Amino acid sequence: MDIEEVEVVVVGGGQAGVAMSEHLGSAGVPHLVLERGRIAEKWRSGRWDSLVANGPAWHDRFPGLEFDIDREAFVPKERVADYFEAYARLIGAPVRCGVEVTSVQKNHGAPGFRVETSQGAIDARFVVAATGPFQVPVIPPIVPADAGVTQLHSAGYRNPEQLPAGGVLVVGAGSSGVQIAAELEQSGRRVYLSVGPHDRPPRRYRGRDNVWWLGVLGEWDAATPPKGAEHVTIAVSGADGGHTVDFRDLAGQGIILLGSTTSFRDGSVRFAADLRDNIAAGDANYLSVLDEADAYIALNGLNLPEEPDARVFGPEPACVTSPVLELDLAAAGVTSIIWATGYATDFGWLKVDAFDPSGRPRHQRGVSSEPGVYFLGLPWLSRRGSSFIWGVWHDAKYIADQIVIQRGYAAHGD
Ligand SMILES: Cc1cc2nc3c(=O)[nH]c(=O)nc-3n(C[C@H](O)[C@H](O)[C@H](O)COP(=O)(O)OP(=O)(O)OC[C@H]3O[C@@H](n4cnc5c(N)ncnc54)[C@H](O)[C@@H]3O)c2cc1C
Repeated sequence: MDIEEVEVVVVGGGQAGVAMSEHLGSAGVPHLVLERGRIAEKWRSGRWDSLVANGPAWHDRFPGLEFDIDREAFVPKERVADYFEAYARLIGAPVRCGVEVTSVQKNHGAPGFRVETSQGAIDARFVVAATGPFQVPVIPPIVPADAGVTQLHSAGYRNPEQLPAGGVLVVGAGSSGVQIAAELEQSGRRVYLSVGPHDRPPRRYRGRDNVWWLGVLGEWDAATPPKGAEHVTIAVSGADGGHTVDFRDLAGQGIILLGSTTSFRDGSVRFAADLRDNIAAGDANYLSVLDEADAYIALNGLNLPEEPDARVFGPEPACVTSPVLELDLAAAGVTSIIWATGYATDFGWLKVDAFDPSGRPRHQRGVSSEPGVYFLGLPWLSRRGSSFIWGVWHDAKYIADQIVIQRGYAAHGD
């Protein structure tokens, strides 16, 4: 049986796979991108209908192509997917769609790897795992499946009409949870939002968007999360033209805020008494960004308008001063729970020595402990920006360079 041979197989045709293809192509490295769905499939079928990008069009893009939209706009998710398809066409990326990689194993006694796919085997000298930062939706085992409520993960949420009539408990106050809660509330639902530890940077401050501040303050390039903030989610939103997430505003719109969700018994969900602390910590994070921005402006003598109102918070809402610690779902009319509780990775197909004993990818800037295997697109792969559109392009460039270096050694003496 003939086995197809390719120098580099890139697994996954999302933004990471497209970026990888650009840099391998520029370096003249023959490669193939295998995508089980369509290009940027997650932006099409893994997100809710009304989602827009969290960063403005001028920033959340690759260097080689602008969005066909106002540069300050937050791009709707279908247009983000269209953009990556257009980008792949622009660079002539060799993407094979509808092909799932089922296993990758080291060839014994020969260089490279055997890549098994839904359409046959391929031999590759190098493999790049670009299967996404957010692969498997995680729902904490708190409310049993037979509790009499519809339960879904934010990855499966599409729009309010999808849910049965009645109130909704949204668990998780990162970017997904706050946007879904607001949409459900605007659709006329009674909404409860369980708020855990979070950062909530300002959308704009002194005339500049948050992504600009992250850039000039060196935050996109930060190599590790700030100490103690490893498990803190980030609440930012490009919805409705973009706005700062302020939980007091959400409460003012009618959303009932709750602390972290801890347990379930006899039809009731229980919450930690941490709501006030979580909101205070989020406020402190917000104010720290303003302080850093002010210091940067002063240090560099920039002429950006002052914005003292940004430091004025509204009064604490009643749901914060007298928090609900237990919610009887039936009595409250709650018929659905949406778990906006994040994702895990699943590299079950990658059967190589590139994982630590707890199954986490073992790598340095994406160069794994299995020579010839690389990771791309993972959170904090090399920096804060690694799992985002802006950052993955730069990581892909580095990994392409590493592959070129290894090809050079392999060819030495030929
Ligand atoms: C709700 C949400 C909103 C976001 N908004 C933004 C934003 O506004 N700006 C921003 O910069 N980032 C945003 N992100 C973060 C990040 O940009 C996205 O998660 C993005 O989809 C990551 O791209 P990726 O290519 O690394 O992974 P993915 O988009 O997940 O692509 C991985 C691809 O691999 C394919 N695949 C997986 N396994 C296999 C296999 N075995 N064989 C073949 N193919 C396989 C999948 O089908 C998928 O297409 C957001 C994330 C989420 C969850």
